[in-house]
Amino acid sequence: MAGYLLARAGVPVAVLEKHPDFFRDFRGDTIHPSTLELMCELGLLDEFLKQPHQELRELRAIVNGQAVPVADFTKLPTRCKFIAFMPQWDFLNFLSSHAKRFPAFQLHMETEVIDLLMEGSRAVGVRAKTPKGDLEIRGDLVIGADGRHSTVHTRAGFQQREFGVPIDVLWMRISKKQGDPKQTFGFFQHGKLLVLLDRDDYWQAGFVIPKGQFDEIKERGLTQFQSNIVEFAGFLRDRVAELDDWSKIRLLTVQINCLRDWCREGLLCIGDSAHAMSPAGGVGINLAIQDAVATANLLADKLRNGPASVDDLRKVQARREWPTRLIQGMQVFIHRHVVTGRTSDRKQSLPFIFRLLKWFPVLRQLPARFIGMGPRPEHFHSPTAG
Ligand SMILES: Cc1cc2nc3c(=O)[nH]c(=O)nc-3n(C[C@H](O)[C@H](O)[C@H](O)COP(=O)(O)OP(=O)(O)OC[C@H]3O[C@@H](n4cnc5c(N)ncnc54)[C@H](O)[C@@H]3O)c2cc1C
Repeated sequence: MAGYLLARAGVPVAVLEKHPDFFRDFRGDTIHPSTLELMCELGLLDEFLKQPHQELRELRAIVNGQAVPVADFTKLPTRCKFIAFMPQWDFLNFLSSHAKRFPAFQLHMETEVIDLLMEGSRAVGVRAKTPKGDLEIRGDLVIGADGRHSTVHTRAGFQQREFGVPIDVLWMRISKKQGDPKQTFGFFQHGKLLVLLDRDDYWQAGFVIPKGQFDEIKERGLTQFQSNIVEFAGFLRDRVAELDDWSKIRLLTVQINCLRDWCREGLLCIGDSAHAMSPAGGVGINLAIQDAVATANLLADKLRNGPASVDDLRKVQARREWPTRLIQGMQVFIHRHVVTGRTSDRKQSLPFIFRLLKWFPVLRQLPARFIGMGPRPEHFHSPTAG
């Protein structure tokens, strides 16, 4: 998104992606109402909505067997009053195909950043590995948008604050059948959670486990694991045997952290590279996109005329840090009190927070706002190339 917006403003951009394509098991398929709003501002919405997707106006969770409406998007002050579920590779292919129409945009696939090029204390580019050998790319600004295991922030030596997370996620595919329930927010049971993302012909399943317990789960065996899944979503009983080898089940480590400084001379980190998000609430993608928009809004003009100063780069952190902290605070709360990965002692059928949402429909607008837009939603206002 940052690449798209900067190239649109006429700033020459090279986006480097280490994989040969976008067709991978990304974490999360949510396109939030605020992102759809941006698509509209960019004149891309109609075409975007022609891509296969599902529209959820209300998010429901299955909590200890009961369906509970959690978020009502229909009252949001956005054009699209729904969350769109679309595989992330479709979203990225869509965005990059449009970005390629700008002469200033280049996308280098299978190009993995392995190091920063430094001149004194200033980053002046990156060294990258490609199938044809290493290459150096120089530029006025390096934007680290390379996710939670960011090479850019590591090589820059940035300090990170970790907020402990008690969970990890097991990530796997289970086939879908006609008559399966629609996309939900997840299946909650006394502190545990199974999320199923509808990917048309299969479910992408995320099963929350206590951090560090994957080996124990393996020791208990696959049959036990399969029946754990069925306890959450009984309709999977006839196909859970597809998970017949541990190689089909991947461990995703969940982190919440934040860099103290998101920038230094010639370099800025955004998205998970600056602040890794947990899956709680399904908001990390939105936050990363909002960072990208703020980056383009604040820097495009400067970058059209040369390098941006550290003070300019700091403005991006200053603008995006508190919304990030607020959401991360919410995620830490959820991990302590709602989804802990361990069976909770409190066995009442519906935890208080879900009872409130069930009793008072108006309250469902709060999670909708938080998930759908996030605090301080960004609007696109960087210049266009002229
Ligand atoms: C299990 C799980 C489920 C989640 N579910 C959701 C959800 O449903 N909704 C939601 O909003 N958020 C979700 N999140 C959070 C969300 O995935 C992240 O917050 C979001 O993807 C961050 O976007 P990003 O662009 O910063 O990084 P990423 O999405 O991680 O993208 C980084 C990109 O950089 C590439 N890359 C990495 N290193 C290099 C390198 N050295 N050189 C070149 N390219 C490189 C990667 O291949 C990737 O394409 C989930 C997180 C987890 C752990």
